[in-house]
Amino acid sequence: MHVFIAGAGPVGLSAAIALTARGHRVTIADRAMGVTSESRAVAVNHNSLGLLAPSGVAQAILETGETVRTVRIMKEDALLARLKVPGQDRRWPTMVALPQSETERLMETAFERIGGRVMWGHSLVTVSQTQAGVTATIRADDTGAETVIEADLALGAEGTHSVTREALGLRFEGRQLPTTWSLADITCDWPFAEQACAVISDEGTINFLITLGNGRFRAIGNHPDVLAVVESMMRIEEVHWSNPFTVQLRVASAMGKGRIAIAGDAAHSHSPVGGQGMNLGIADAYAFADAVDAGDLAPYMAERPGAARRVVARTDRAYRLLSSTSKGARIARDTLLRSAGFVTRLLV
Ligand SMILES: Cc1cc2nc3c(=O)[nH]c(=O)nc-3n(C[C@H](O)[C@H](O)[C@H](O)COP(=O)(O)OP(=O)(O)OC[C@H]3O[C@@H](n4cnc5c(N)ncnc54)[C@H](O)[C@@H]3O)c2cc1C
Repeated sequence: MHVFIAGAGPVGLSAAIALTARGHRVTIADRAMGVTSESRAVAVNHNSLGLLAPSGVAQAILETGETVRTVRIMKEDALLARLKVPGQDRRWPTMVALPQSETERLMETAFERIGGRVMWGHSLVTVSQTQAGVTATIRADDTGAETVIEADLALGAEGTHSVTREALGLRFEGRQLPTTWSLADITCDWPFAEQACAVISDEGTINFLITLGNGRFRAIGNHPDVLAVVESMMRIEEVHWSNPFTVQLRVASAMGKGRIAIAGDAAHSHSPVGGQGMNLGIADAYAFADAVDAGDLAPYMAERPGAARRVVARTDRAYRLLSSTSKGARIARDTLLRSAGFVTRLLV
């Protein structure tokens, strides 16, 4: 099969690796000039590592990333629990922390090793299909020259503002959470023995800090000023990147139509609690590759919306519990947070 992929983020690259390794021809185009330089998703979970193992990417992630073994849970200034993350000694641990920029770099290297090449600097303009195949028009961003690509199937993995999703007329159903969140990558005087730390409060704020390796940490909060919270706990030496953002809870009305599918952020968006965004998309990519192998995208279109809805619902439930301000829910939350099982269920 000849498959056209729009978008070479972690999801497009995963699909490209899986399909090329299985003998399919892949044309993959991305409007950026190379992989992202932003750290974005920092958690690669057990499931993603298992899927990426045959390509060698999982091993490379393990060698480059940080296997977070313990998490400190605090309620404001008070220590609530010190949790050992279960399953971190398995061949593919429960979770490895690595900036997305590094994960994408390792994926691109693996793709090139098997003969692949991303057409960087090429934006998808439109995509359409007939019963016989798909036609994608891409535009070179420097010259404006358009190229028409004929393929058997197409995958839209261009993230939240997916041209493919629009071209298929699919709705992106859901809502935006009312608060502005903030994240920052910092170098700091990390005062704890644990490699990650969650700080909750009875006012509903959540802050999460996790190692990125090389003395760097990611801080994320469900309010506009996570740096102020970090500063109250430790000395910040340098802020490398900070970004306010809003959280969308959305699932596309379908994972595609006919010969054209969508995957990753093009198809779903949810609360960052549990770090599932990129991992769910990698699972989509491999499910898509299985469907291409079987010569039928119908199982992909039938099964993946359920997986997306489950993650959106689960992470939203966890978020509402963690940020709860009612007395009963706070007691339940504080009890659950002392259980390593709760943390694992969030991560995988
Ligand atoms: C600031 C930020 C912080 C984040 N933090 C976290 C986090 O802490 N934890 C977590 O789990 N997730 C996080 N995420 C989400 C995570 O980055 C995504 O879930 C993940 O990147 C999804 O991968 P994707 O390949 O589907 O989409 P993307 O990574 O968005 O990749 C899409 C690719 O498509 C390309 N593209 C877009 N339009 C076109 C077009 N028309 N033609 C061709 N190419 C196109 C883009 O250049 C990009 O390379 C964060 C995201 C952002 C933006």
